[in-house]
Amino acid sequence: MIQELKGFEEKRGETREEGMQLGTMKGRRSWLENKLQDETELGVSRQPYCLIVGGGQGGLGLGARLKRLGVPTLIVDKHERPGDAWRKRYKSLCLHDAVWYDHMPYFSFPDHWPVYSPKDKIGDWLEMYAKVMELNVWSSTECQKAHYDEAAQDWVVTVDRDGEKVTLRPKQLVLATGMSGMPNVPCYPGADLFTGKQHHSSQHRGGEGYAGLKCVVVGSNNSAHDICADLWEHGAEVTMIQRSSTCVVPLSTLRELGKSGPYSEAALKAGIDVNKADLIVGSTPYRIIHQLHAPVAQRIQKQDAAFYDSLRAVGFNLDFGEDDTGIGMKYLRRGSGYYIDVGGSALIAERQIALKNGEVVEIKQRSVVLSDGSEVGADLIVYATGYGSMNGWAAELISQEVADKVGKCWGLGSGTANDPGPWEGELRNMWKPTAQEGLWFHGGNLAQSRHYSLYLAVQLKARMEGLATPVYGRGPVHHIN
Ligand SMILES: Cc1cc2nc3c(=O)[nH]c(=O)nc-3n(C[C@H](O)[C@H](O)[C@H](O)COP(=O)(O)OP(=O)(O)OC[C@H]3O[C@@H](n4cnc5c(N)ncnc54)[C@H](O)[C@@H]3O)c2cc1C
Repeated sequence: MIQELKGFEEKRGETREEGMQLGTMKGRRSWLENKLQDETELGVSRQPYCLIVGGGQGGLGLGARLKRLGVPTLIVDKHERPGDAWRKRYKSLCLHDAVWYDHMPYFSFPDHWPVYSPKDKIGDWLEMYAKVMELNVWSSTECQKAHYDEAAQDWVVTVDRDGEKVTLRPKQLVLATGMSGMPNVPCYPGADLFTGKQHHSSQHRGGEGYAGLKCVVVGSNNSAHDICADLWEHGAEVTMIQRSSTCVVPLSTLRELGKSGPYSEAALKAGIDVNKADLIVGSTPYRIIHQLHAPVAQRIQKQDAAFYDSLRAVGFNLDFGEDDTGIGMKYLRRGSGYYIDVGGSALIAERQIALKNGEVVEIKQRSVVLSDGSEVGADLIVYATGYGSMNGWAAELISQEVADKVGKCWGLGSGTANDPGPWEGELRNMWKPTAQEGLWFHGGNLAQSRHYSLYLAVQLKARMEGLATPVYGRGPVHHIN
């Protein structure tokens, strides 16, 4: 794995900048003056080499690496402040990954940081990160349209910067718009006649105001469970509609397993810091990784048998992946289909949250009709129905033609549900050249974003310097979404 380009290394340690210039000089400019000038010019009188659409953790981490590599980069995000993508999610959300796994590139959380960060705390951390890493971020800026100018070999990107239309001409365009950003909203017959409130889980802000009301949550993965539990805590009458089976793993179990893993206090004591841990994990080929996950998934099922029995007893449809390899493989193959239990499962097992199995076939004025003909009354419907492939962003911002040319993002080609074969070998289209010149996709959880932003940043820097960086085969596109 390429760590750096000879002759274009990041300045660090001994080679870091001095910061101050010794001596005296007329017209000396301060650090702040230079910074402000750079901010004023970039994207206005001087074009960025790289434009990153999306200033979530993905865009910010990549932006930091490019800054360190001297690649002029602009990050645009439609939110008002860096970190808002987390702040604007439902109130009860906390990271489900433990702190040792979640550091941003270059600096780690301090050692008092909680194991599981609440979403607003992560939002503030990201905002601070953008500031201290001196990233060029245009907030309140929406990317509206982009097309590749074949003749000029660059992108023509229209953004709305706080009401003002600006055209940018970057050579490289990175969509860091989020794997969990393109909502999948099912089109159920009659939905337009529903007289209550209905929205996708990404629009759900919290359970306030729903006390005593009938709330139906369609879906049975992470967001569905979190939202059901939050509505229940606020006194709502909650029903979860489970359409297909779910892999559930208690957070406490993952925490126990993690204690001896590469991202842990034990690993730190053994001299394995986050960068070494990334290399250890990243150098395990995807081809064999399921063989490592399978025994762990089996151990969890045995160890937590009573927990799983309690869910089966109320009709909750469980799975551990088609080949019994558990939650980690589901994440890599499809990025969905699981719940890390932080309390929602007990509410289901105790029937505090009602459970219905089946597909929604119709929405009526104040109810949801299921495939078995049963009807559930509803004042609120939350569609916790997941997110689409990231090439949907290319369809929205560039064109359907480019989205189809590039094909599906994420997944390994395992031939399991939502991850059709043939085998790809790496996550489709992520962090590597795509079928569209100058177009890149970046995203994933905090750990993936941290680690793979390195390889993406090196490839972008190499292009700027005219160096070749061949990558693991970019095969033909087999699936468009
Ligand atoms: C309920 C839930 C729980 C999760 N828990 C975890 C967890 O525990 N650990 C973890 O690592 N991950 C978790 N995730 C995944 C999480 O979504 C990602 O880790 C994180 O948000 C990805 O960061 P990102 O920067 O790739 O995308 P995002 O955070 O989605 O950021 C994308 C950004 O792109 C911007 N954008 C989109 N379109 C445009 C446009 N046209 N113009 C300008 N800006 C645009 C958005 O405003 C947004 O700020 C969770 C996700 C959900 C939904």
